Amino acid sequence: MDFKKIDHYLEEKLSQSITELSELCRIPSIAAQNTGQTEAAALVASMLTRRGFQVEIMPSAGAPVVYGERKGKADKTLLFYNHYDVQPAEPFELWDSPPFEPDLRDGKLYARGVSDDKGHITSRLHALDAILAAEGELPCTIKFIVEGEEEIGSVNLPPFIKEHAGKLAGDACIWEFGYVDHRGVPIQYAGLRGICYVELSVECLSQDVHSGVGGTIFPSAAWRLVWALSTLKGPDERIRIPNYYENVIPPTERDKELFSKLPEIAEEYHRRYGVKAFLRDATGGAELRTQEVMEPSCTICGLTAGYQGPGSKTVLPAKASAKVDFRLVPNQTPEETLTKLRAHLDAQGFEDVHITYLGGEAPGRTDPDDAFLQLVVQTAEEIYESPMELHPMTGGSGPNHAFIHYLNVPVATAGLGYPDTRAHAPNENIRLDQYLQHARHITRILEAFSKQP
Ligand SMILES: [Zn+2]
Repeated sequence: MDFKKIDHYLEEKLSQSITELSELCRIPSIAAQNTGQTEAAALVASMLTRRGFQVEIMPSAGAPVVYGERKGKADKTLLFYNHYDVQPAEPFELWDSPPFEPDLRDGKLYARGVSDDKGHITSRLHALDAILAAEGELPCTIKFIVEGEEEIGSVNLPPFIKEHAGKLAGDACIWEFGYVDHRGVPIQYAGLRGICYVELSVECLSQDVHSGVGGTIFPSAAWRLVWALSTLKGPDERIRIPNYYENVIPPTERDKELFSKLPEIAEEYHRRYGVKAFLRDATGGAELRTQEVMEPSCTICGLTAGYQGPGSKTVLPAKASAKVDFRLVPNQTPEETLTKLRAHLDAQGFEDVHITYLGGEAPGRTDPDDAFLQLVVQTAEEIYESPMELHPMTGGSGPNHAFIHYLNVPVATAGLGYPDTRAHAPNENIRLDQYLQHARHITRILEAFSKQP
């Protein structure tokens, strides 16, 4: 491919692509609030149609999935997984410009969803435009799968992928996100942890009671909840649900080698989060990196019971609840976690603790030495002056298991996120230079992929 021409096009037409991105960011497609999804799906579909893709807006059990396919020269298919939904923009007062009125200042574009994930969609389209302008055709077949419920856990995507596995079939997949760190080094994450998110609730009384009346004779929902929670994890950080670790695959020698090559993170965590000491006396290095992402976790994300206003209120609350997330590693599943959690609570005498399942995703990994993943890592060098830094896993979650499991494709990350991108937070933004670099990287990936035997 003629990269001189391609790079020239990418720079010359950048503002056109940013205009297209701004148009998409003006739609408040917030899955959690059920707004703008139809509109955003229609706009993404029209963007693909404009570029010669065969497009379908396909129903799922939730928001529609935009599917686009355009044939290319080589008999190979690359999938792009993206999402058109965004996080809620609240709290609005912390934004320096309105979240759904994209604002370009200091080489950055500010808007809710501009980084997560709309900028990824349009920068990838920008890359395809440059290739089409220079070459007249795509180097391989491209399929876009753009869903609308990523920010609420992609609950309906795995069954959708399973049902349409034939249509969505491909040889490899580029994931919705990717990051460049503070040194400008792009990061490759070969896997995502899974998650099982639950709310545990207890209700012991029909109404709140004066604590002087009920304190010694009525059961306390708050105590019941706290006692139940205390059985989930010990001070040694081990999750105490029986057989909880039976399906956990420990890190391989290759994983350990990769973790040992990563830069030290301890100092940064001390500084950024004010953490004084890490759990289990870890001090840093590969040990901390491995514990961070290769082990299951159980986190109390929120606790609610009784009076929490100023001063004192002597009350025995009727109800108590906690939000708890379990991050999962291969080969754990959310279903297995739920079953084991219920059995454990029952066995401990907490039949009264009710579990509400709030969503989950299975963990998924691609072999760090997979040829496609390595291609994505290596092609970054020309663009970023450094190959990607290869992480065996990241601690977060996403629906990559469905792609790996039902479509049998390697999944690689590449993208335009950077440390101050503020995804999910006020003043979410992208840097235009990163936008351009990501588009350039995509063109190199496409060429190398279409030539790969
Ligand atoms: Zn997100």
